Amino acid sequence: MSRLELRDVHKAYGAVRALAGVSFDVAAGSRTAVIGPSGSGKTSLLRVIAGFELPDAGSVSLDGRVLAGAGTGVPAHLRRIGLVPQDGALFPHLTVAQNVGFGLARPDPARTAELMDLVELDRALLLRWPHELSGGQQQRVALARALAQRPPLMLLDEPFSALDTGLRVSARRAVVQLLSGAGITSILVTHDQAEALSYADQLVVLRNGRLVQAGTPQHVYRRPVDEATAHFLGDALVLDARLHEPGWADCELGRIALDRAAPASQREGRILLRPEQLQLDGAAGREGTVTEIDFNGATSRLTVMLDGTPDRSVAIRRAGFEPPGRGSRVRVAVAGTAHLFGSP
Ligand code: ADP
Ligand code: MG
Repeated sequence: MSRLELRDVHKAYGAVRALAGVSFDVAAGSRTAVIGPSGSGKTSLLRVIAGFELPDAGSVSLDGRVLAGAGTGVPAHLRRIGLVPQDGALFPHLTVAQNVGFGLARPDPARTAELMDLVELDRALLLRWPHELSGGQQQRVALARALAQRPPLMLLDEPFSALDTGLRVSARRAVVQLLSGAGITSILVTHDQAEALSYADQLVVLRNGRLVQAGTPQHVYRRPVDEATAHFLGDALVLDARLHEPGWADCELGRIALDRAAPASQREGRILLRPEQLQLDGAAGREGTVTEIDFNGATSRLTVMLDGTPDRSVAIRRAGFEPPGRGSRVRVAVAGTAHLFGSP
């Protein structure tokens, strides 16, 4: 199991600053998800860790050994870090067997077959060409190839983006099981918030080449550092609040307990609620009218227009069948605490 440390990593391509001072640790045997919008530096980060790019400044260390820093770098093939690149990137002129075997020091049909089993691919596919495989099968071959050298650290660059929703979830579970079973430390890059939240022990949020927040998925989801991060990780209701009494916020939905006390001098702030905290049951709460129902299967997302504030609607996620219909009168109550954003 391997521990990775990044310290103030910078990387520019000409005038484009892809990474502008990124630092975080990945604990041995843990799973980190790096999430951020397209162009935020996710792929550059993996390439710097794997050794395909040298950082302009800062350092990368694995188990206390410096892999890159001060202008020098251990070559990629000596780092024992597996990388499943963004598009799978199988060699099109090599068969599946040759692609998987590429990661081995010498041809080893028994080990190649074992790797196929490991990623749950039928051995009958060994003689096929990459273009004769589905997107999901290609991803598994890429993973088998990366696993061939038994890397203590595995980097996965949006490995499930080519798969449909159902397949994506099961592929993710299979990969989690495989990597944790083998004690492999991993970093998964994605722009899919559900995938990141579900995969990770640690979530790292990147924006414009900077790390904006790192923490457990629960922490970052409930207590994002800023509004952009809040919206990026899921539906968010952000409200203006008055802070008259320590630990409490007064807002359009009434008086709500806060997750932290504001400094005594702070009289106003912005707070975050997640749709699953808003409830329609109970006699208390603000009154409003259901204006939209978005049926999502297991849950429905209702939009409620609050009385007296015609420009304010709130989204509510509700499990179960038979949500109240459009036009229904409801009362909206809040469960749990609201997150108070820090001052910008
Ligand atoms: P992400 O994977 O989050 O989409 P990337 O790391 O691929 O982000 O890119 C970060 C920034 O660096 C983007 O602005 C991108 O256009 C730029 N970039 C990435 N690779 C190169 C390159 N080889 N040459 C020039 N610019 C690049
Ligand atoms: Mg990318």
